[in-house]
Amino acid sequence: MSLNKPTAERRAQALANGEVKHGTATGYQYWGCRCAECTRSATERTRAYLKSRTPEMAKTHGTASTYVNYHCRCDLCKAAASLAAQARKARQK
Ligand SMILES: [Zn+2]
Ligand SMILES: [Zn+2]
Repeated sequence: MSLNKPTAERRAQALANGEVKHGTATGYQYWGCRCAECTRSATERTRAYLKSRTPEMAKTHGTASTYVNYHCRCDLCKAAASLAAQARKARQK
């Protein structure tokens, strides 16, 4: 797929002509459509991608993002996540 995004006019034209397939990643990413169907499809794809990541794929440990994104529960990542949670709480006060 080309990375060149269509212009605003081209996009409006495609949407008006029914060229955009809704409920697809292309509709959301390429055409920039934010209808309920396209948004749901994009959200599901992102969720599936995030779920497919495993602790073995993590490059660094001891970060809250590895804990959250890679579901790593090693001591380093657990410590980092609890520190981050504490920092968040402190900021909310
Ligand atoms: Zn759409
Ligand atoms: Zn870890």
